[in-house]
Parts: sequence; C-alpha cells; structure tokens
Amino acid sequence: MDIIKINDTSNKLYYIGGIVRDFLLNRESLDIDITYAGNAIEYCARFGDVLQINPDFGTIKVLVDGREVDFASTRTEKYEKKGHLPQVDRLGVSLKEDVLRRDFTINALAMSVSTGEIVDYTGGVEDLNNGILRVLHDRSFIDDPTRIIRGLKFAMRFGFDLDEHTKNLQDEYLANINYDMSYARVKKELIETFGYSGKMARGLQWAYDRFINDGIYRLVTPDEVENPSVNIENLIMDYPVEHQWLVFAGTLRDLSRLPLTRTEQKIVDDVPACGLSGDFEIYKAFEHVRTESILLYGILYDEYTARRYLDVLKHIKITVNGEDLKELGFPPSQEYSKCFDFVLKEKLKNPYITRDDELILVKKYYSE
Ligand code: ATP
Repeated sequence: MDIIKINDTSNKLYYIGGIVRDFLLNRESLDIDITYAGNAIEYCARFGDVLQINPDFGTIKVLVDGREVDFASTRTEKYEKKGHLPQVDRLGVSLKEDVLRRDFTINALAMSVSTGEIVDYTGGVEDLNNGILRVLHDRSFIDDPTRIIRGLKFAMRFGFDLDEHTKNLQDEYLANINYDMSYARVKKELIETFGYSGKMARGLQWAYDRFINDGIYRLVTPDEVENPSVNIENLIMDYPVEHQWLVFAGTLRDLSRLPLTRTEQKIVDDVPACGLSGDFEIYKAFEHVRTESILLYGILYDEYTARRYLDVLKHIKITVNGEDLKELGFPPSQEYSKCFDFVLKEKLKNPYITRDDELILVKKYYSE
C-alpha cells in the first residue's frame, strides 16, 4: 500500500478493510479507505480538497496528495430487508462496532493512521496467515448473500479457503435461498469475480468450478446447471472480450434476475438456441454478433464450431458489393442479398477465389 501522508495525531483515523488486508499480503490496493471513529465529514475535510460528501452514510471523499481517499465515519448497519443494501443504523460508533458489520475477518482489520498499529478484533491476522475466510457471525450470509460471491472472489484471488463452519453456513444458505435480494449487488460481485484480470492465486476456471459445483450459482437462478466440459478460462485467453464475466455467468442461461444493460442482454439473446451445422449457417449466425455470444455458444453447444468461426470463417469476406452489381447492370432488389449469399457460400468452400472469380459467380447467379 502506498501510505498516504496524513498528519494526524487524533488516533481516531484507521485504514480499514481491504487496504489493510492487501498491505499485510503485500499486494497493491486500489482504494484507500479510512475510517474515523466519530464524524468523518466534520473531521476529515481538513486533509485536502473535498470531492464528495454523502451525509446519509457519513462519508467524505477527499483529494489528498493527488489521490482520492474515502473517509467514512464509523457506523453500524441494519439489514431491514435481508439481502438488500443495509441501512445505516448509528454513525460515529466505536471502531470495534464498525468492524463487526464487515464480511470476513480478513476484511475486518484496521491500522492506525497515526501509529501504524494493527487493530484486530476478530482474529483477522491469524486467518490471513492461515489463508482462511471466516464470517463474523452465523447470520452473515442471510443478511447479505452477496458475501458468498465475495468469498469466492477472495478465494480465487488469494488462494484462501472457507473455514469449515463458514462453508456449512454457506451450504445452508444455498439450500434455502431467499430470492428477494439486490441483484445489482450480486451482479457487481459477479463482475468483480469473473471479470477479474489482476493477479490471482487460483484461476477463473477454478472459481467457475466452485461456482457451479458448490451451487453458488443458485443465487442467480433456481434452475439446475451442469458444469460444461469446456475450459472457459482457456477460451477467454484465446479470445479476450470486454464482457468477460458474462461468458461465465451466461452459462446459467437464466439471468432474468440480473439487471443487465442492453448490450449485455443482447449478448445473451444472440446466443443461438440450438446447434449449427455447415459453414454457411455458422457464418450467418455469428456474422453480426459479439464474440461473447459466440464463446457462450462454444461453451453451451460446440467449442469446435465457435473456434472455427473465430479462427477461420470470420476472416472470410466477399469483396463484391451493391455498386459492382449495379455496374454489371443488375437493378437494386432483394436479389442482391441472395446473390451475395450465393457468392459467400462458394467463398466459404474456397476462400482463395479472386475478385474476378466472385464477379463470375455474380453473373452465374443472375443467369440461373
Ligand atoms: P477489493 O480489493 O475487491 O476492492 P475490498 O475488500 O476492498 O476488495 P470493497 O468492496 O471495496 O472490497 O469493500 C471494502 C470493505 O468494505 C471490505 O474490505 C469489507 O470490510 C467491507 N465490505 C464490502 N462489502 C461488504 C459486504 N457485502 N458485507 C460486509 N462488509 C463488506
């Protein structure tokens, strides 16, 4: 962690959560989260230019030495609707009360900004040393099932494992899911897990196998899902895509609960609903769809076909166009597209045909 220079002797400011975990693991942390045991909005504005204030959450974003720092008032939370965003209960509580609302012991560590002392109320340092993910109380997953996906994310990234009791609580929850939860939060965690491209102790395929085999996917759909035989991580490495997470999540087929963007919905909708056969049919099905949809087809139906399209067929293009047809004296009509398909079919059989060959094919089409 790049320690931000903050001159403070209050001893009420603490680096908190992921940043302390990452510091102890000697990993880079993107966010700088600092908690103030009191009213952060009042106290922390002094550290730089104030960028944003959220009075409801008692948080203030400040530019310190050119870096954005999130200062939060210590708080307790209550889950009035289980599985939804928690409500702030009390602000300015003790540090201990603040850390007890967190997900895993490794994320419940604090480090004094003034002294650098680590404050560990939940055994987080020992769990960090032993590679253990442990929830702080038995109702943790009931309050917030997204923690199950967070656990998977940290297990993948750090190579950690759930402690036995936490695993039992997870299994119990997954056997009794309350589908009334915030799917925006579920989606965010899925993106952070399966869209990850940083340093990982275990790979994306490992996480996916756990996701399916441990039944974590049931958070998204009650439908039974089997683990496809394709190695999705390898596929992604061969064909990098923007919406990588969706190539994993899309294998569940039923994503109706997730708030998808239009592009994401289109990716899912564009996956052909059944097997394709023959180069022409494959070409036509994939010509205008995103690579994510093609990869999903490869995973769900036929990897060979998806690879064949992406490696070979995709690069085959006919050169004749409407202008050529007009010049040859054929008036614009619906026949044009049929003619192009006729040429394309031939070109798929023999990709090396020349432009002159294509023009001959056009004439042949119109003469028949
Ligand atoms: P990352 O490296 O992915 O950013 P992080 O642990 O910093 O990991 P954030 O989502 O930024 O993740 O959360 C910051 C901190 O807030 C966490 O370390 C944890 O203490 C707490 N936190 C985040 N999400 C939850 C949650 N769903 N339940 C309880 N505490 C949470």
